[in-house]
Amino acid sequence: MTDSVECVVVGGGIIGLAVARALARAGREVLLLEKERWIGQDTSSRSSEVIHAGLYYPQGSLKARFCVEGRKALYAYCAERDVPHQRVGKLVVACNDDEIAILRKVVAHAETAGVDDLIWLDGKAAQAMEPALRCVAAFHSPSTGIVDSHALMQAYETDAEQAGATVVLRAPVLAGQVMGGGFTVDVGGAEPMQLACKLLINSAGLYAPSLARRIAGIPAQAIPPDYYCRGVYFTLAGKTPFKRLVYPVPEHAGLGVHLTLDMAGAARFGPDTEWIDGIDYTVDPRRGDKFYAAIRHYWPDLPNDSLMPGYAGVRPKISGPKEPGADFMIAGPETHGVPGLVNLFGIESPGITASLAIADHVASLLARA
Ligand SMILES: Cc1cc2nc3c(=O)[nH]c(=O)nc-3n(C[C@H](O)[C@H](O)[C@H](O)COP(=O)(O)OP(=O)(O)OC[C@H]3O[C@@H](n4cnc5c(N)ncnc54)[C@H](O)[C@@H]3O)c2cc1C
Repeated sequence: MTDSVECVVVGGGIIGLAVARALARAGREVLLLEKERWIGQDTSSRSSEVIHAGLYYPQGSLKARFCVEGRKALYAYCAERDVPHQRVGKLVVACNDDEIAILRKVVAHAETAGVDDLIWLDGKAAQAMEPALRCVAAFHSPSTGIVDSHALMQAYETDAEQAGATVVLRAPVLAGQVMGGGFTVDVGGAEPMQLACKLLINSAGLYAPSLARRIAGIPAQAIPPDYYCRGVYFTLAGKTPFKRLVYPVPEHAGLGVHLTLDMAGAARFGPDTEWIDGIDYTVDPRRGDKFYAAIRHYWPDLPNDSLMPGYAGVRPKISGPKEPGADFMIAGPETHGVPGLVNLFGIESPGITASLAIADHVASLLARA
């Protein structure tokens, strides 16, 4: 017999949890299926945990819009639900005259995206804020912050469950099929079953394109290719002299080897960028050499032997290394023609910051379904 439920959300990362919360609070019957033993074990546990201001994203993009909207919503949510977070601010720094031009472009761009609180600083003023820093100019983004991403996911899960949603762990979605007016979904694990649903949200993160390809009836041209770009972190042994986040000028596939702080005040550096063929979280300690060089660009006194291999995350890219970076692809029925289906592809940074805004958008795409 096939059980049925109104909505199936695939993936218990920050996006799936936020979507389940939004749909359940809108009165939908929601079942979230997560393949692992715990929620949020993939990309959502392997990030910098930064609440981004929204400085870099192309004008008119979903990343730009949802980062600014999501950031405001996230600060309000964290305050209301006591999720540990801190508006620590960040400095983006130019270490030579060529980088000043890039920095000015970032400021102009961010201001058109609605970030209206940036403060330009000369090298001296930046060093007065962070004495260990060496730079020729910088800008300060006071609305950048940090969040405990695990506590945030826990809060989304609790809200979703309180609104009636059910979260099932160790429940991998193996395949599915578009049926007239809905879907069937094959679930593996210890108790394999088939489910029928009217609405299907594919928020499987790195696996979202491959899962979409296993759902018969989704047009192939509506599914982007998947690429993986690993970023590793090194943690700082001992106390950091920095009180704020410090970023170099951005590079092509990432934001450069930056310094972030966690809620306990520990410093970590990264993520770097390395295009890889499959999902692999190995941290090669030899990558540390490049980190010392990149960090000493803005922190010349970084002590020898102070970096320890940390962890790795993999960016769920849908554009390749030689292509311009792709926007979030949040594909509802109007793009692929399948009623009741939303695929979330390429939800890389700033996905945590944007999570509440993305979830509201997904709920609105399905409001009349
Ligand atoms: C290195 C790095 C640093 C980042 N830093 C930041 C940052 O500082 N700030 C920020 O805002 N964003 C950041 N991001 C982006 C952010 O982490 C992601 O956008 C976000 O975590 C994506 O969440 P998700 O739920 O889409 O994916 P995931 O967290 O990967 O969740 C997907 C879930 O789906 C499950 N799943 C997959 N396939 C199936 C299946 N077939 N059946 C059932 N379950 C399945 C997986 O187990 C997983 O739990 C960073 C990303 C990376 C890679």
